[in-house]
Amino acid sequence: MSDQPVALVTGGGTGIGAACCRRLAAEGFRVGIHYRSSEEKAKKLEAELENAFLVKADLADSESLDALIKELKTLAGRIDVLVNNAGYNVNAPMLAMNLEQYDSVASVARGTWYLTKLVLRRFMMRSGTGRIINISSVVGHTGNAGQIPYPMVKAGLDAFTKSLAQELAGREILVNAIAPGFIDTEMTDELPEEVQAAILAKIPQGRTGTADEIADVVAFLATRGSYINGSVLHVNGGMYGG
Ligand code: NAP
Repeated sequence: MSDQPVALVTGGGTGIGAACCRRLAAEGFRVGIHYRSSEEKAKKLEAELENAFLVKADLADSESLDALIKELKTLAGRIDVLVNNAGYNVNAPMLAMNLEQYDSVASVARGTWYLTKLVLRRFMMRSGTGRIINISSVVGHTGNAGQIPYPMVKAGLDAFTKSLAQELAGREILVNAIAPGFIDTEMTDELPEEVQAAILAKIPQGRTGTADEIADVVAFLATRGSYINGSVLHVNGGMYGG
């Protein structure tokens, strides 16, 4: 097994995930870029980074995650940092949303729980160390009209973070969440212009955040932050303080 630490970033081919991959590679990690559908972007990123590898899985499909773990054993042999970045959103008001849409958002949370369990069991519990960093959202705290399953899942991810940190007490496996505010990525580009303008008006810093500004905090939690555990770090330009 190589001495180089390995970081796995889910949804690493796009947006915030891609920025995390770049930043963690710069910090000396060998980076596992996980993707589901963004193969082209993930491949481009793999080619750009010096020491990275690609893995594909659908977080909504537990068998796909079982296969992913087997692949990680061969490709990496260790996982030191897990960034649970993948997320999915459907924009529709409560009465217009159907169960299938609800499940498409909620199944990513189920998959995040399951992947974390597998990574803990196969890698981190064996090495006795690790950092788990969950990317939640400010809307898990403030609520947000027009996308109810998404804030539900994100609030749950923060509760998952706190609970898992307590369950792992006494080990050097630290679990934290970062709750971004309004970050400029494809996910936010899809919001109607009037919704984007209304959100912008609520940000004291007067601008959206960048994926790199989230990746900075991920890198800090992955490599330093040794006394931060079970916390939710709000990174939102002053929109919400927790
Ligand atoms: P994004 O580019 O749309 O990223 C979402 C990622 O999740 C994609 O890479 C996608 O992979 C992956 N994904 C979605 N469903 C999946 C599934 N079933 N299985 C596996 N992977 C799946 O948007 P982003 O803004 O960078 O979002 C990254 C994270 O930050 C998300 O958790 C999001 O909720 C959170 N966040 C974003 C903002 C914001 O303002 N942008 C604010 C707060 C929180 P593929 O493309 O390969 O399918």
